[in-house]
Amino acid sequence: MIMSGYSNSFFHKPQSHHLASRHVAVIGAGAAGLVAARELRREGHKVIVFERGDQLGGTWVYNPNVESDPIGVHPNRTLVHSSMYESLRTNLPREAMGFRDYPFVAKKGDEERDPRRFPVHREVLMYLKDFAGEFGISEIVRLETEVVLVDAAAGGKWKVKSRSKGGGDVEDEIYDAVVVCSGHHTEPRLPQIQGINTWKGKQIHSHNYRTPAPFQNQIKGVHEDGSLVFRDGSFVVADIILYCTGYKYHFPFLKTNDIVTVDDNCVGPLYKHIFPPALAPSLSFVGLPWMIAPFPMFEFQSKWIAGILSNRIALPSQEEMMEDVKAFHSSLETLGIRKHYTHNVFGYKFGYDEWLAAQCGCPGFEEWRKQMYIAALENLPKQPETYRDELEDHHLVLQAHQDFTNYTVNGVGVVDK
Ligand code: FAD
Repeated sequence: MIMSGYSNSFFHKPQSHHLASRHVAVIGAGAAGLVAARELRREGHKVIVFERGDQLGGTWVYNPNVESDPIGVHPNRTLVHSSMYESLRTNLPREAMGFRDYPFVAKKGDEERDPRRFPVHREVLMYLKDFAGEFGISEIVRLETEVVLVDAAAGGKWKVKSRSKGGGDVEDEIYDAVVVCSGHHTEPRLPQIQGINTWKGKQIHSHNYRTPAPFQNQIKGVHEDGSLVFRDGSFVVADIILYCTGYKYHFPFLKTNDIVTVDDNCVGPLYKHIFPPALAPSLSFVGLPWMIAPFPMFEFQSKWIAGILSNRIALPSQEEMMEDVKAFHSSLETLGIRKHYTHNVFGYKFGYDEWLAAQCGCPGFEEWRKQMYIAALENLPKQPETYRDELEDHHLVLQAHQDFTNYTVNGVGVVDK
């Protein structure tokens, strides 16, 4: 079914002898947007990246400020994109975390850099900036430019309306395709708790947690009945609720006549978590799945999108994609997986990446990367305080570095052997 005003007629069946170059808008210059831009350009498309922040890097741009509403529900609150806290170190080893062909190796001789395998957030930001510099992406990123509307235009194209900083200039442009890379760790997801509206204590969502300082010196002792006693002699059962309840997918700029909706944190209908069948391939999403090694997955998803937009790779028909989406949702139902876990791909994470790689005709997830990822996840609950510094996977590190020699390019530090 093709909905009026949202036709995908601009695109035709793939013809291997004719590669098309599209004018593509990428929304967001985090890890997903940067690698999407690189893959699209490699495929010969013309790309503009819109970024509302004042620098690229997305989530990895640490911001000491918190939002005006600590639980993030007020619609007019001051918005802070990143949820990073000050002392955050990565939860994956750098070798497994980085893009496949731009190894995340320690840079020597630069004191600003953190050479550890699980570095602090700044190191990831610097890696992303190196990546953007290496592939000439920085020049095509429009900073401090927020996309406020993505709407269907004639001929299966998209109108992209953007606003530069301070609510200044609003610009309307037409693109052949839009790739949404706007992240999903900014909009808090809150549980419904009976009586919460009249509760007197403080509430904060982890999105607005930066340092432990505001929580220090509040708790003198506890009583057997479960109450907590404070230094001023008062007591309550709890004085702060810190919600670590995750985030919501949120695309306030996207107007699709309800073809794409977010229902109980499931974005859909989406073929392979990427393409809404009725709008494919001119609208796509990079980065929705979670419980996966994010950067390599972004890379595979982006390669696939880029190849489809150029007609080098074929998509199934709209009907076939819809059938696949329905089958996917009914398999989740059969397994008793609730809707808000739709994009949790933990159970088939490597299979998902392998599938994308096969579509693109490129090598899949490296064996050492799989094992390193699994080892890190297994060690976390066993040694939550020390797993970052006591990983015994030296043989995998050696294999990784052996592999990296295939990819070392200008700007990436010399890989240790
Ligand atoms: P983001 O990094 O969020 O980037 C989205 C970008 O889109 C932002 O720059 C934003 O400003 C921009 N944007 C949004 N809306 C608009 C708009 N309307 N117009 C213009 N620009 C817009 N992953 C790991 O691999 N290892 C880790 O150790 C790790 N730790 C994490 C810790 C925390 C606390 C969090 C929240 C996430 C962590 N992740 C980790 C996952 C991380 O989210 C991904 O690795 C990845 O950085 C997400 O990239 P992204 O590009 O999808 O989104």
